[in-house]
Amino acid sequence: MNNCIFCKIVNHEIPATVVYEDEDVLVFMDIGPIIKGHALVVPKDHFDSVLETPENVLAKLHRAAKRIAVAQMNGLGADGVNIVQNNGKAAGQEVPHMHVHVIPRFEGDGHHWNWNAKKYVDSNEMIGLAEKMRNNL
Ligand code: 5GP
Ligand code: ZN
Repeated sequence: MNNCIFCKIVNHEIPATVVYEDEDVLVFMDIGPIIKGHALVVPKDHFDSVLETPENVLAKLHRAAKRIAVAQMNGLGADGVNIVQNNGKAAGQEVPHMHVHVIPRFEGDGHHWNWNAKKYVDSNEMIGLAEKMRNNL
């Protein structure tokens, strides 16, 4: 994918501040951090989103994400870590190259996810949605 910004970073065509690299995975600093220290874990091969990413690659990405989380706790003094992954425009994915956000969190850092819990009309609505998902596993 020659027009993909993360492929360009992987191929050293545009610069990035690299935190970790191995054969399959690159981790670099997000240029627009939600909280300073925010890192992105990407596969070196291009996959649009989690839907296209093979399970063995997902395992490698999440293994790296955990190492970064530990490094943020121990190295940056974070009090917690968010691991976030967006898929598709509707879910807020802006760069269509699979990536995992690893975001250090500090007590009182002021960031809020605006997590507005909704209510189902009744339990049948929820059960119906669960069934539709079960039928598509
Ligand atoms: P998404 O919304 O797709 O889940 O996240 C894309 C992330 O990539 C954003 O947090 C954004 O700040 C970051 N980003 C976009 N372009 C660049 C870039 O050229 N370099 C780096 N390091 N991060 C980028
Ligand atoms: Zn790409």
